[in-house]
Amino acid sequence: MLAIAGSAQETRVIPPADPQIAAALQQVSASRIQQTIEKLVSFGTRSTLSAQDPASIAAGHGIGASREWIKSEFENYSRACGGCLEVKTDTFTKPAADRVPQPTEITNVYAVLRGTDPKSANRIVLVTGHYDSRNSDNSNVTDPAPGANDDGSGTAVSLECARVLSTMKFPGTIIFLTVAGEEQGLYGSEHFAQMAKSEGWNIEAALNNDIVGGDRSPRQNTSVVRVFSEGVPVDANDADLRRIRNLGGESDSTSRELARYIAETAESYDLGVKPMLIFRLDRYLRGGDHISFNEQGFAAVRLSEFREDYHHQHQNVRTEDGVEYGDLPKFVNFDYIANVARVNAATLASLASAPAPPAQVRLVTKKLENDSTLTWERSPDGRATSYEVLWRATSSAEWEHVQAAGNATTITVDQSKDNVIFAVRAVDKSGHRSLPVVPTPER
Ligand SMILES: [Zn+2]
Repeated sequence: MLAIAGSAQETRVIPPADPQIAAALQQVSASRIQQTIEKLVSFGTRSTLSAQDPASIAAGHGIGASREWIKSEFENYSRACGGCLEVKTDTFTKPAADRVPQPTEITNVYAVLRGTDPKSANRIVLVTGHYDSRNSDNSNVTDPAPGANDDGSGTAVSLECARVLSTMKFPGTIIFLTVAGEEQGLYGSEHFAQMAKSEGWNIEAALNNDIVGGDRSPRQNTSVVRVFSEGVPVDANDADLRRIRNLGGESDSTSRELARYIAETAESYDLGVKPMLIFRLDRYLRGGDHISFNEQGFAAVRLSEFREDYHHQHQNVRTEDGVEYGDLPKFVNFDYIANVARVNAATLASLASAPAPPAQVRLVTKKLENDSTLTWERSPDGRATSYEVLWRATSSAEWEHVQAAGNATTITVDQSKDNVIFAVRAVDKSGHRSLPVVPTPER
């Protein structure tokens, strides 16, 4: 991405680092993440179908015990910040279904760091991982299913973000979520996202971390983390699809803008790992919890390690022909997970600090002309002090150019709308940037 001279002053696509966020990122601890993952593994199995009766919880075995421990961790973090987190559960009974042989209680556990600005607190950014695990047999509820990487790593990222970010205050709200039922069919995240939609939650971004352990296989690349984002939204209706086809909008879903935002944020801070944007919903013919949020119309992406080792996921723990199978802590890289946690924490903190995105962003098309005029309404939370127009070539993956618009709500850019893709983002007085919004045509 380039730094380009704007109208009067030099502006950059990559926002400046916020020193307070940078200091918080230093608190992310690989050894805390290791402790979390080893604790999760100690429950034996975290199969969604495994035990959750009081005796098993007391014995520290099964998904019920792991759920109670996660809840107690969030409560510990909350005590350390004077009760700043609201620790909650979302429990429901999943009727019998494929991979759910009998009605099963599923519980999502989450902590809410409520925004401090009354006008911004309804804006939510969210991080999630699934705490359920499985072995070779998805219906086996007794043999070990350590799930250190899948998805102890993502669960640990959510917990570590809660521990570190709960020491700060943000205008917007952050939710730290851990879900169950993923291996049975994304049931926990499906229920949570449906609840959010039906209750009118304004989730601006959901970061799903699933298999971010940096498995120590020889061809792993610990300098990158993959960020998967949908192109054409899964919830697009016929009118949306027509507009996307007509305007070349296949790479500008809100989830794709979130993916670009993560890449830009990672450039602002020294994170030790670089987002590698994958322009695809998820890995080839596979899925994850971000899709549950996409289906409800929320921007959501999946973070995953560069190279998965299939000997170490969805496998019974065993050695066969000299090959060690099983999702054990010794195969994951805690320093790498800490770096991925920093990518998440930097993104969550930046978005929760940023103003709301501008509203009603339009590209004026009343007459044929080679300049492009954009209009918008001020960010509804009143926290923006200025706005910026971004653009890139239609064939470019990431935003390339930026022009400052001051505190105006319209700008004319000396670029043909036929040749580029535009977006507008809001900026607050400290330089935090909102997610960019791609205009719709104004006739
Ligand atoms: Zn998983």
